[in-house]
Amino acid sequence: MANIRFDQVTKRFASGVVAVDKLSLEIADREFVVLLGPSGCGKSTTLNMIAGLEDVSEGSLYLGDALVNHVPPHARDVAMVFQSYALYPHKSVYENIAFGLRMRKFAQEEIDRRVKDAARRLEINELLDRKPSQLSGGQRQRVALGRAIVRQPAVFLMDEPLSNLDAALRISMRAEIKALHQTMRTTFVYVTHDQAEALTLADRIVVMKDGLVQQVGTPDAIYERPRNVFVASFLGNPPINLLPGHLDRAADGLVFRQGEVVVPLGRASSEKLAGDANRPIVLGVRPEDVHLDPSGPLRGAIQSVLPVGSDQYLGIECAQQQVFFRVAKGQAFRLGDHVAFSAATARLHLFEQTSGVNLLHEQP
Ligand code: ADP
Ligand code: MG
Repeated sequence: MANIRFDQVTKRFASGVVAVDKLSLEIADREFVVLLGPSGCGKSTTLNMIAGLEDVSEGSLYLGDALVNHVPPHARDVAMVFQSYALYPHKSVYENIAFGLRMRKFAQEEIDRRVKDAARRLEINELLDRKPSQLSGGQRQRVALGRAIVRQPAVFLMDEPLSNLDAALRISMRAEIKALHQTMRTTFVYVTHDQAEALTLADRIVVMKDGLVQQVGTPDAIYERPRNVFVASFLGNPPINLLPGHLDRAADGLVFRQGEVVVPLGRASSEKLAGDANRPIVLGVRPEDVHLDPSGPLRGAIQSVLPVGSDQYLGIECAQQQVFFRVAKGQAFRLGDHVAFSAATARLHLFEQTSGVNLLHEQP
């Protein structure tokens, strides 16, 4: 069984930096989990603890049923792919892929079978005699993947494996990594700071900040029901619009109010927040969750028009800031034009102003 369990795991470096703070997380056998967060939030440290490259300062880490806090890396059934690829420059592609198997004293026939099988799968079988310096970045990345695949590990660890590739290649490699997970039928733990990559790949995403887990959930749950302002703004591009204001009572329920901007919140939210009128809040509206509506409450002059091919984003001066709303392509807009938008009330996010906690989707 290749499930992974962190029980109150803390990593404190000698410098005193707490890179991971009381992490409790269970990763199921064959699950694809993505650790997502900004640089320095503790993603690599978490992965390195699974690999055994960093020891655990406090708490317990289990692979399957075994407590592995003190198990050395080579005795763990894991393989890791690094952002830097970490290939041996003087060895051929074949020998780079075979290296881990040679170290483990596999028979030559078995090595040959596995190396060729992985190379075929990654479409690098024509490159087995080359040296890493004779490969493109994408090909090197495949060699690094091949080296991990041939080990047939129970757990596959990847630390920003696509960060050094250009944008187009990154997107096609995403699909390949997803397919790899499906054919290998092993547990994948994948680190990235790229929210789109996380949304595409993950069964579940773990959003981290400052060594602390912010939210764990399916891509859909994280995107649709972010637990706080940080998670809401980290996922989505362009990011969610955040308008500070306060709750207020109107004839037919609660509204969000900031000066002239008054947005009805709908019955469900009004009932949920009935005791909170006048509370300072932040209204969150994703750019794609609005539609043009001449009587809509979110209105203002167009400050920017950003076509992105499939559709376009309008930057609008609203509630004393620039907000971005998506509209269909084809329709022409001019700077300075006044436009008005509505959002379905079920699509609105409401956060507490001081803590940033989502007031509609509080989770334990
Ligand atoms: P991420 O992978 O999310 O960018 P890391 O896990 O690499 O973050 O780092 C988390 C925190 O731990 C950062 O503050 C980083 O500076 C610190 N850190 C990482 N490695 C070491 C180390 N070997 N010694 C001291 N501090 C470290
Ligand atoms: Mg890192």
